[in-house]
Amino acid sequence: MRIGSGFDVHAFGPGDHVMLGGVRIAHERGVIAHSDGDVLLHALCDALLGAAGLGDIGQHFPDSDPRWRGAPSARFVAAVLALVRGAGLAVVNADLTLLAEAPRIGPHREAIRREVARLLELAPERVNLKATTTERLGFLGRAEGLAAQAVVLLAGG
Ligand code: MG
Repeated sequence: MRIGSGFDVHAFGPGDHVMLGGVRIAHERGVIAHSDGDVLLHALCDALLGAAGLGDIGQHFPDSDPRWRGAPSARFVAAVLALVRGAGLAVVNADLTLLAEAPRIGPHREAIRREVARLLELAPERVNLKATTTERLGFLGRAEGLAAQAVVLLAGG
């Protein structure tokens, strides 16, 4: 068994939606990012890569590479999952935490869980999504952006 953790942050910017766990959520702002800025999927990719000992998302999908401009982060997850499997490893479960004052994900929680599970080719029960604010403290508390943490367990290897 191998465990990995991931963390990601994106600042809010102009826009009318955010992508979270591959789900488009209407919001009064978007995020500033080279790709679609999906913090949940970016943290998830880093957790997968970390558990597999394969570095980080920036090494595999550098933001200097025009191929990833505006890229849906689901593509990153698919590519990372292929690397994980190529190393003889299989995803056991994923636990994700969104840190943000807004948007509230309650109404979207199950949709995100299902989409992340679909991307990982897992049963939805093997994916968990939590959310917290930072009690209005710091850059997240001032709603300047949003952050995500992910923990993943891999079997094999
Ligand atoms: Mg990111």
